[in-house]
This record gives sequence, structure tokens and C-alpha cells, in this order.
Amino acid sequence: MPPRIAIDGPAGAGKSTLARRLAHRLGYLYVDTGAMYRALTYKALRLGVNLEHEGALTSLAESTNMELVPDAEGPRVILDGQDVTAHLREPEINAGVSLVARVPGVRARLTELQRRIAKKHPVVMDGRDIGTVVLPEAEHKFFVTASFEERCRRRWREMLDQGRAVSLNEVREQVALRDRLDSQRAVAPLAMAPDAVCIDTTHLDADQVLARVLAVIRGETGA
Ligand code: C5P
Repeated sequence: MPPRIAIDGPAGAGKSTLARRLAHRLGYLYVDTGAMYRALTYKALRLGVNLEHEGALTSLAESTNMELVPDAEGPRVILDGQDVTAHLREPEINAGVSLVARVPGVRARLTELQRRIAKKHPVVMDGRDIGTVVLPEAEHKFFVTASFEERCRRRWREMLDQGRAVSLNEVREQVALRDRLDSQRAVAPLAMAPDAVCIDTTHLDADQVLARVLAVIRGETGA
């Protein structure tokens, strides 16, 4: 089995920045599993599938092909042969993705695809259930978090940078709702694996987070 590093945590904690940079540093493949749930949500919305309809979402997941192609900014997502990466951060997807991700049949299908990738390549994989469910045997597990307020500010700045006019209060509501749905769902909720190293990034910049994680991987420190 190629080496595996699992990174989990809530929205806005700095997971994807860390995962992307860590993968680059180690020469591993970065697997952004959130992008896979987002891509399926994009397809469901385009086809007009009701996001409350578990059966329809399960069939959709089972008949969907998805590939991740490495790229400097993070993987490009190829959905049934079409590059949908540019659409994955749209507000409708932010609002709908946690409804799609709570469906057991959807999770089963995407978990299978994620494990298939990890069998072939050394990976840094980020998400909500990587250390607990997808890759419980990963050599290294990290749980990356930050205060609610800091996570909301980061998301807000990110959205302003993308030219989306949104208030900090709206972002707070969206993040709170996604946190709630992701941590309270019945299957594979957001949770820290008992053997994960927890990193609170509230007062750390991206370089400091990366340095801490590399130190743990090299065995220089326990946290
Ligand atoms: O990481 P990102 O914010 O892009 O994830 C989008 C959503 O996808 C999460 O809010 C969660 O509902 C879902 N997700 C998940 N399990 C994962 C990765 C993402 O349920 N492993």
C-alpha cells in the first residue's frame, strides 16, 4: 500500500491549503474529497434532482464517473469526462453539498472511488471522514481546526477575493449550517480519529501549520 496522510476538519480550518502544500512538498497526490462531493452536487443540481431524495442521489452517484487530475491549484475534477472544477465553489453548491453528503449511498460510492485512488498513489487526502472511515489505516492523521469566528472570516475573505458580494453574517450562517449537518449526520460524521494529531490554526499562518505537520511526520514532535 502506498503511504497515506489523512487530514480532516471543518470548513475554513485551512485543510485544503495544508493538504495541497504538503502533497507538493512530499511529491504525493492531493485528493480533495470535498471537491468530489461538490462535483456530485453540481451534477444533481444541473439535472434537477431533489436534494432531499436519497434514492435519486444514490442512483446518481452510482452512475457517475469521477477523476481527479493533479494541477497546481489543487486537483481538477473530471465528471463523466467533463472538467467541472470552475463550478465547484458556486453558492448553490455551498448550500446543497451537505445534503448530498449525508446520503449513505453517495458516501459509499465516493468512499470506494477515494480508496481506489489511495491504492494506486501515495496520497494526502482531505475531508471530514478520511482518518475515521475512508483510510483508517493511514500512517499519519491530522485534525485541523480553528475558532468558528476565524473560520468564517477566512471563508468570507475567500469569497470576496472571488468577487462574490456576501456579508460576514451570511457566511456565519452558512458555515454554522454546514458544521451542523456535517457533524450530526448518521453516517461518517465529521469527527476526529482517536489517533489523529489535532492542530488549531486560529493563530497560525499557512507556513507555520505546514512546518508543524512536517515536524510530526518526521517524528520530531508529538504535536
Ligand atoms: O471540504 P469542502 O468544504 O469542500 O467540503 C464540502 C462538503 O462536502 C462538506 O461540507 C461536507 O458536507 C462534504 N464532505 C464530506 N466528506 C468528505 C469531504 C467533504 O461529507 N470527506
